[in-house]
Amino acid sequence: MTDDAQKANLTQDAAQGTTPDSASGMACARAEDATVGVPISDDARTQVVFQRDEPRRAIPFPRLKKKVKRDRHKRTKVSVFRYAYYDPAFKFFVEQVLDCDYLQLPKATKRTMELGIQNSSDYVCTPFKHMMGDWIEALELGADILVQVGGPCRLGYYGEMQEQILRDMGYDFTMLNFSHGIEQGYVGWGKEVLRTVNPDIAIPHGVKQLLACGHMLTLLDQARDFYLANGGFERERGVYRRAWEALMDEMRATTTKAEIDAAFTRGMERMREIPLNKPADPVRIGIVGELYTAIDENSNLGLDEKLMDMGVEVARTLNFSNRYTHYHEENMRRTIAEYAEYDMGPTSTMTLAAAKKYAQLGFDGLVHAKCAGCTPEIDCIPVLQRISEDFHMPVLYLTYDTETSDTGLMTRLEAFYDMLAMKKEAK
Ligand code: SF4
Repeated sequence: MTDDAQKANLTQDAAQGTTPDSASGMACARAEDATVGVPISDDARTQVVFQRDEPRRAIPFPRLKKKVKRDRHKRTKVSVFRYAYYDPAFKFFVEQVLDCDYLQLPKATKRTMELGIQNSSDYVCTPFKHMMGDWIEALELGADILVQVGGPCRLGYYGEMQEQILRDMGYDFTMLNFSHGIEQGYVGWGKEVLRTVNPDIAIPHGVKQLLACGHMLTLLDQARDFYLANGGFERERGVYRRAWEALMDEMRATTTKAEIDAAFTRGMERMREIPLNKPADPVRIGIVGELYTAIDENSNLGLDEKLMDMGVEVARTLNFSNRYTHYHEENMRRTIAEYAEYDMGPTSTMTLAAAKKYAQLGFDGLVHAKCAGCTPEIDCIPVLQRISEDFHMPVLYLTYDTETSDTGLMTRLEAFYDMLAMKKEAK
């Protein structure tokens, strides 16, 4: 079997969890051996902390019998809050699933943050403030519908509170809030979409495109993993960033699953062709933390790029597809049984499981990124301190709020990197 064929099989097995030597199985076995310093294969990175009891059943794409009738309803402008690198998937969801026009927000500015701060309670978690700024700008740009996701913590209340604040400010709009119908899972969300957005959506077409959208999220996360692992070692500065942006642009232009796959393949080929100066044993740092702040570049002041600019190989198991599509709370918690007995919050189990796994894999350090006031991630800190002591892996705790300064962050990151590099050299 060729290398490419082996890699393809590995990725497929890992996604389905079908064989004991799938990527997840291999990663876990390696971790149990506690082999320090073993490099992680590109394909195994996102599956670092997963174990599955049962194989995942493949969900067939529904076949369309009739041609889908498009544009039978008034075009509606739909906006989603700014979040990390998921904009192409949000666009696909709005245009291909909801059958509406996507209102893409420009890059966030200082004003966005100010709008969010002025119209939020002081004590609310910081992502709420970022989203408030996004919503106000979206409504100023003419959005008719705002899409808010649900969540198992305070995030579940964001939608209703933000809707009320925006109505009090005098805006007229519809909020598609996925906290409604959350207890009925996908069926509940489907009903919410039909009720709120468009009762005439062709359901088979919508389901097919929703599956394609989930597929795109997984591929975006895979591409980001590759980017984080290699972007810090480019020979010519800025090439990786340009390749990443090109991939994002191509993903934004897709309308079908086949186009998504083609855009991903082209984007990955471009990134793989970039010449690197990567040492055999670079400084490796894992990022764990809260779902919004640890991933979103705007909220964490470009944490990924800052670490990569220092020549760090970065890994982050936490992402949208690992948290939602491939997530198995009980299995993951079993891997940290000596540290946590209960589920402590939306990302706590993943934070601890990923931290332990990075430690077992010989990572040099860990960055824990969260926003001010995130109770579930605050609860993780004492456990992370234990993991840090047990495995002698330093942890940098970063708490972001709307006042966090770029210079202060840079100083802490540089000091952390210097300490890790010296420790590595001394070894
Ligand atoms: S995860 Fe943390 S920051 Fe996010 S909504 Fe929940 S409590 Fe707030």
